[in-house]
Amino acid sequence: MKESKYTTIDEALKKDLTQVYLRGWVFRQRASNKFVFIVLRDESDIIQCVISKSKNAELFEKAEKLTIESSIKISGELKEDERAPTGFEVSVSDMEIIQIAEPFPITEHQSPELLYDNRHLWLRSRKLNAVLKIRHTVVGAIHEFFRSLGYYEFDAPIFQPSQSEGGSTLFEVKYFEDIMYLSQTWQLYAEAGIFSLGKIYNMGPTFRAEKSKTSRHLAEFWMAEMEAAWMTLDELTEVAKDEIRFIVQEVLKHNKKELEILERDIKLLEHYAKAEYPTIKYAEALDILNNKYQMDVPWGKDLRTMEEAKIAEHFKVPVVVTHYPTEIMGFYKPPSEDNPKEALCFDMLAPEGYCEIIGGSERSLLVDDMKKRLKAEGENPEIYDWYFALRRYGSVPHSGYGLGVERVVQWMCGLDNIKDAIAFPRTMLRKAP
Ligand code: ATP
Ligand code: MG
Repeated sequence: MKESKYTTIDEALKKDLTQVYLRGWVFRQRASNKFVFIVLRDESDIIQCVISKSKNAELFEKAEKLTIESSIKISGELKEDERAPTGFEVSVSDMEIIQIAEPFPITEHQSPELLYDNRHLWLRSRKLNAVLKIRHTVVGAIHEFFRSLGYYEFDAPIFQPSQSEGGSTLFEVKYFEDIMYLSQTWQLYAEAGIFSLGKIYNMGPTFRAEKSKTSRHLAEFWMAEMEAAWMTLDELTEVAKDEIRFIVQEVLKHNKKELEILERDIKLLEHYAKAEYPTIKYAEALDILNNKYQMDVPWGKDLRTMEEAKIAEHFKVPVVVTHYPTEIMGFYKPPSEDNPKEALCFDMLAPEGYCEIIGGSERSLLVDDMKKRLKAEGENPEIYDWYFALRRYGSVPHSGYGLGVERVVQWMCGLDNIKDAIAFPRTMLRKAP
């Protein structure tokens, strides 16, 4: 392929070019009677471009007509200029207008709802551009982490005949003459996969009809899951900690500029990238909440957001909480042998109020107990016959967990709402565009 003379703004600056050819969109435009200043935007950065009337009256007239988001190609001389927003300026010698944009519906100081209604356009904002780049790093880091440890990527069906995370959040879909459900997790199929591949992982779309309107729940999100034969809870939690530290390290390595645009506290991320993360039991968490913070959480209740937040705030790094009460856990989370009231499971809670980012467990090998628990949830255990068969043909201890990709992106970027961690969010109330 013939090499294009066009570069991105970032490449032009990095290569220290003097004569530059750039193409992009008008981010801002300001005209005086002598100059037109255009801030040009492309995927990599923004840069000020200046057109002087005295140097080129025809070009000046063309540039006066430019509107926000008009698409243009320019060429000119790149110089350092400390008055320009990014410290550099292009003195334009030629410009081609590709399209003059209609008045852009997003102006300064818009309501969040208008920005969500115009999400297809708001993706161009510096904020979402930065978030999407960080998301790209997070996703890449997850693949790299598992592949470097010898895990195989393994895909599960999205149409599933049964629930696995509770009927209340199931999405039913018509499937020819039948009803099926959209995947709430990859887990049950992964448990079949490990008998072939040993250690596996996946990242895929996940669907939960979450009716609560929180800033941490989407109806469609991406979950990165892993499952490993022979693995026990204590090993599992260490994998989760290593994965999170690796993701933070990768974001710091590749996205300093984006973190700055988002005004994220980089020092804090540097701390998370190196720190040890504590593991405590649910019972110890209650102890901290009730004795240190005078809260009143009885044994047997799931931790609510404010309680999770308190625990993570107490340690100021991600915290692994294990051994939640068996009774409130999914049917596949096994009771501990030492104390059957406690399940061999964990959640990882992120600090700064971001709370649960990972949930996982050993998987129960006790078929009768699982059947009993399914029945108690009003489920028909027969649908799970294939799953229980896995316990009959060379059953082995095994464990796995799921990481919420948007939860991690939200935390990395310091976003108030998880909706900004995905390009086109889906919640109970947000279906379009
Ligand atoms: P929560 O209690 O926060 O609803 P959960 O216990 O239902 O989470 P799991 O079933 O353990 O979550 O799912 C694994 C991970 O998937 C969670 O730790 C979280 O990071 C992510 N996750 C779960 N539900 C959602 C959702 N509705 N939107 C975005 N991420 C989610
Ligand atoms: Mg949930």
